[in-house]
Amino acid sequence: MIDKVTKRFSDGTEALSEVSLTIHDGEFFILVGPSGCGKSTLLNMIVGLEDITQGEIRVDGRVINALDPKDRNMAMVFQSYALYPHMTVRENMAFPLKLAKRPKEEIEQKVKQAAAMLELTKLLGRKPASLSGGQRQRVAMGRAIVRQPQAFLMDEPLSNLDAKLRVQMRTELARLQKRLDTTTIYVTHDQSEAMTLGDRVALLHQGKVQQVGTPRELYMVP
Ligand code: ADP
Ligand code: ADP
Repeated sequence: MIDKVTKRFSDGTEALSEVSLTIHDGEFFILVGPSGCGKSTLLNMIVGLEDITQGEIRVDGRVINALDPKDRNMAMVFQSYALYPHMTVRENMAFPLKLAKRPKEEIEQKVKQAAAMLELTKLLGRKPASLSGGQRQRVAMGRAIVRQPQAFLMDEPLSNLDAKLRVQMRTELARLQKRLDTTTIYVTHDQSEAMTLGDRVALLHQGKVQQVGTPRELYMVP
């Protein structure tokens, strides 16, 4: 629940003006709009990378905007993947669980599970440099999934892929999201992505929510 959230940067830029949105459990929710409309800023505030100027963000009735990012149990997937180049796929995926000091057996099991789901089992011993763009993207997802976060936040995760792979990954991502049943907030400037991926879409324009609805309602797809 995002309640009248406003963000003003120190230089006076008002990136968001009283934005309110209700996002449901398990929903695949898309934030779409032109460059500079405030999408990344909103995502950064939800995950805790950016302070809120005014308003509240609540999860299950609890106000989270004062919490540390690590206490929010949300996983962010960036467009640059940010994989560790010196680590194998297995080590990359295990890393968040190692940081959380989970037992070795649990780490092994969760990595195995995520790898199977993402069709990465055969690649677990490889380093990121030897993987394709789509495979790297799946490893980045795997690293986010193993922690079983309360929500996934994705900032244009497909924008570094070529057009064909992008369309393919879109379908995969939509399927994966439904299988995981984890609330997902996905930022894009691409309307066709918004139409095909999301359960619901919010259109942002100059820091304000213009419209919220299903793709069918917003784009009148047949
Ligand atoms: P989007 O993700 O939709 O492209 P952003 O959230 O990155 O938009 O930016 C929203 C607005 O806030 C833009 O006008 C941008 O220039 C401004 N902005 C973003 N970060 C900062 C910052 N650190 N300081 C000042 N202005 C910023
Ligand atoms: P995006 O791909 O999300 O649109 P941008 O190129 O707008 O990214 O922003 C890249 C980075 O620069 C972000 O960390 C953002 O916070 C920062 N930024 C954007 N606009 C400004 C600004 N006007 N002043 C200071 N920092 C900014």
